[in-house]
Amino acid sequence: MSLKNSSAAGYACPLWCAADHEGQEHPTDRYHATPHVLVPVLVPVVVPDRSPRVGKAERAGESVEATEFSVQASQRVLGDSTIWVTIAGEKQYIDVTVESAARLHDALSQLLDRLRRP
Ligand SMILES: [Zn+2]
Repeated sequence: MSLKNSSAAGYACPLWCAADHEGQEHPTDRYHATPHVLVPVLVPVVVPDRSPRVGKAERAGESVEATEFSVQASQRVLGDSTIWVTIAGEKQYIDVTVESAARLHDALSQLLDRLRRP
């Protein structure tokens, strides 16, 4: 992996890092991170299920709402070197390894190709 100098002492950043490490006070909380890419999306309106089951939610008919998902990669500066890809919205959250993100990307490409067939 290619590295570049960091303004923070003691470590170098990968070339993809755009994090402001000066603002990350505790060394164990420091993350290399790409810039956030914001993606506008439509999501189904979800209403909480009022039954005794815990954590279940239901789609509210055909209603949709506009929101944004943030897509970002990050990696701890110290310790575990795993690079995580995060897709986060107000109510949804996916945090997967780069390899898993690539598999999801391939699956989405195949799905979209299938949907675009005449
Ligand atoms: Zn960094």
